Amino acid sequence: MTDVDIVVVGAGIQGAGVAQAAAAAGYSVLLLEQTGIASGTSSRSSKLIHGGLRYLESGQFRLVRECLRERALLLRNAPSFVRLAPHYIPVYRETRRRPLLLRAGLSLYAVLGGLHPEVRFRQLPRSAWSDLDGLNQDGLQAVFRYFDAQTDDAALTRAVVSSAQSLGATLLMPATVSGVEMLSGTVRVQYRSAQTDGEVRCQALVNAAGPWVNTVLDNVTPRVEALPMECVAGAHILLPRRLTQGVYYAESPSDGRAIFIMPWHDDQTLVGTTERRYQGDPAQVEASMAEIDYLLATIRHYFPAYAALEPVASFAGLRVLPAAEGAAFTRSRDTRLYVTHAGRVLTIYGGKLTAYRAMAERAVALLRQVLPARAAKADTKYLMLENIS
Ligand SMILES: Cc1cc2nc3c(=O)[nH]c(=O)nc-3n(C[C@H](O)[C@H](O)[C@H](O)COP(=O)(O)OP(=O)(O)OC[C@H]3O[C@@H](n4cnc5c(N)ncnc54)[C@H](O)[C@@H]3O)c2cc1C
Repeated sequence: MTDVDIVVVGAGIQGAGVAQAAAAAGYSVLLLEQTGIASGTSSRSSKLIHGGLRYLESGQFRLVRECLRERALLLRNAPSFVRLAPHYIPVYRETRRRPLLLRAGLSLYAVLGGLHPEVRFRQLPRSAWSDLDGLNQDGLQAVFRYFDAQTDDAALTRAVVSSAQSLGATLLMPATVSGVEMLSGTVRVQYRSAQTDGEVRCQALVNAAGPWVNTVLDNVTPRVEALPMECVAGAHILLPRRLTQGVYYAESPSDGRAIFIMPWHDDQTLVGTTERRYQGDPAQVEASMAEIDYLLATIRHYFPAYAALEPVASFAGLRVLPAAEGAAFTRSRDTRLYVTHAGRVLTIYGGKLTAYRAMAERAVALLRQVLPARAAKADTKYLMLENIS
């Protein structure tokens, strides 16, 4: 006998997505979260629902197409907090990505986005440059405009958890999964919560613990080899003035990496991100002084009016990437679903906020092999998400 069909570890966007997809497929679900909903990376992202224009440079076409499809669904299903925003790419004399390359990339982006009206791009006439929030025009040669979507990542995660709960999933929080044991035909999950230690039996376990994913996997008996991964920290800063025209996507003047400069809430600007290998405690990750200076230098370079403004806050999140040599910037952002223990443990490595739903559907499809048949309750493609913050 089991208590539930599926236990999900971690209420970040990936765990929330699996809880929603599994509950929609008719399974009973218990979601265990050690700290708070979206307390990990899912509140520290760049908050974009996008295909990822720059992933075209590293040939990740499948990922971009999937993310653009998911973007279209989220624009329809979460209109109160996933919204299209104009994105501007300024090209200066020294910009590495030249207009010809940008045109080619934006054309491909539009094709992968199904040529919907929202993926159309254009080159702005010179007469429109002065409307661009005081963008530095010294050496400016061209400005491209395309559209992608912005959201509030933590609010999105809360909305997906709430959707899962409305389909019958249970959330237990705070509850830290401390041990997992494979028994014959079932999985025993032990957790520590504020009041007491608890135990639950399930048919399958989904490990969606983000940067803690291998700590959870190492606590599964019998032990299996975890996949080699590394955490790459990405920092953002917040400045106390809001851009009015949209998101700017510009190259760092020091190393040419693409940086987002985005309006945030009613009165702030969000600038990010960086990439730095990180080996410490995931709960302690924060923006370093060097990262703050790097991001400040970028916004001050493009928007001289920001020269006197100091950041009011900074934060950092951790990307989970397959361990490899070389720059993190060009490494695959695809999710890796790692199935072990005769199909009863599924571990999620990496992934995008944008594509959480598609990833969750894939995860549930893999688990079906060890789960009994259940009558589906809903299709996640059509579930509306409410902003409950
Ligand atoms: C800097 C940065 C910018 C990004 N920008 C974007 C973007 O603009 N658009 C986009 O689509 N994607 C973006 N991403 C990717 C996206 O943010 C991540 O893929 C996503 O947030 C990861 O979610 P997750 O659920 O896997 O991990 P997390 O959000 O970290 O969730 C894991 C959860 O597991 C819990 N947990 C851990 N161990 C246990 C345990 N033993 N028991 C119980 N609970 C546990 C943690 O407390 C945490 O809440 C960005 C990533 C980074 C780092």
